[in-house]
Amino acid sequence: MAKKTRIQRVTGMHDVLPDDQKYFERVCSIAKSLVEFYGFSKIDTPILEEAELYSKGTGSNTDIVQKQMYTLKTKGGDVLALRPEFTPGIARAFLDHGMYTWPQPVKLYSSGPLFRYESPQAGRYRQFNQFNLEIIGDSSAVLDAQLIQIFYNILSELKLKNLIVEINSIGDHQCRPYYKKLLTNYFRSRAASLCADCRRRVRENPLRVLDCKEEKCQRIVSQAPQTIDHLCDECHTHFKSVLEFLDEIEVPYRLNPHLVRGLDYYTKTVFEIFCEDNQKKEGEEFQPKIALAAGGRYDGLLKLLGGEGAGAVGGAIGVERIISLMKSQEVKWQENPNPQVFIAQLGNLAKRKGLRLMEEFRRAKILVAESFGKDSLKVQFKMADKLGAGYTLLLGQKEVLEGTVIIRDMKSGKQDTVKLNKVMEEVKKRLKK
Ligand code: AMP
Repeated sequence: MAKKTRIQRVTGMHDVLPDDQKYFERVCSIAKSLVEFYGFSKIDTPILEEAELYSKGTGSNTDIVQKQMYTLKTKGGDVLALRPEFTPGIARAFLDHGMYTWPQPVKLYSSGPLFRYESPQAGRYRQFNQFNLEIIGDSSAVLDAQLIQIFYNILSELKLKNLIVEINSIGDHQCRPYYKKLLTNYFRSRAASLCADCRRRVRENPLRVLDCKEEKCQRIVSQAPQTIDHLCDECHTHFKSVLEFLDEIEVPYRLNPHLVRGLDYYTKTVFEIFCEDNQKKEGEEFQPKIALAAGGRYDGLLKLLGGEGAGAVGGAIGVERIISLMKSQEVKWQENPNPQVFIAQLGNLAKRKGLRLMEEFRRAKILVAESFGKDSLKVQFKMADKLGAGYTLLLGQKEVLEGTVIIRDMKSGKQDTVKLNKVMEEVKKRLKK
């Protein structure tokens, strides 16, 4: 008889177990509170969109569209795609909802899963999460710098160390055609040493060769002409301003003249944020660097999707990669604040009073913990100690009959008896001290 095989999870997809949930919550809550400070509002767009949105927006020659997109045909015959990135969906929503009429720029954040059919490896999954930011409706260089600063601040607030921003400008429709020509000529003369994908890229979009992770291609790329030497005046001035703003706000960055990013819609600024811990060390085998966050300016995307042109800049952090770095850098944080009060009880009547008391504390916004299921006082005191409670309130049978409670200061061990109806007042007084 055929052996029954268990259904496995899909390659490149992972479960987020309870132990890891706290990391996801930590990343998202730090990022959320920071971006709300900078004036971003949340937007959710569907996970399924018309596949054409990405072939038009992300670019039909990109790896994302050519190789990595999960597409499906619905029963009604529509060709849809699981979102491989946030930006085109948000740009579509911007146009759908007439956000041109909102105060500009419109600052939006989103978070959630993305899907890319990539070769699974460390830090590269087929389903992963991003925390994404877009600033749409303004082309000022200051916004590029501010966006990078926000990503840098999120990573720093998460207590990640050794961060560095890599930045470049890839020009625009005025200067890029000439640069592309230069690149094509350079790569054509070295085509025999490029990987098969790159030989195709030279024909379709030579900029993409700069982004290739193959070691043999990277060697050729290191000698290739650089965009910043061929920017038009407008792109040059814009890039200079971005760097000056970054200097002003003291975000550490390094110019990477070959940084291009894998998406077609970028114009001018592109950036990635890395942790220096991940960099190649002397004598180590070549390993592609793992970016924690990435993004850039995309002034042409809205027009590409049928809207009016509008300046825009955006980017995203990769949540799983951040979590993996938090673990390797052994980042610690106070997960839940210690309870201010622990309610210990003995007997059914005391449990009843304890339940009622707990609600009073909840309404007074005082953090309280209990272990009503336990009957041993010793166990309950141990628990109060372990949780780091400031005070333990002891409701024994005698106290319940007398209408009193014992307050034990967990630091000094000093105990006082107070009237049950005065206990809230007394706890508040002590917590204020
Ligand atoms: P991108 O959307 O390609 O600009 O990527 C932005 C960030 O998302 C990257 O810097 C990574 O941190 C993360 N990321 C991209 N692709 C993956 C993947 N396949 N698995 C995990 N994280 C990813």
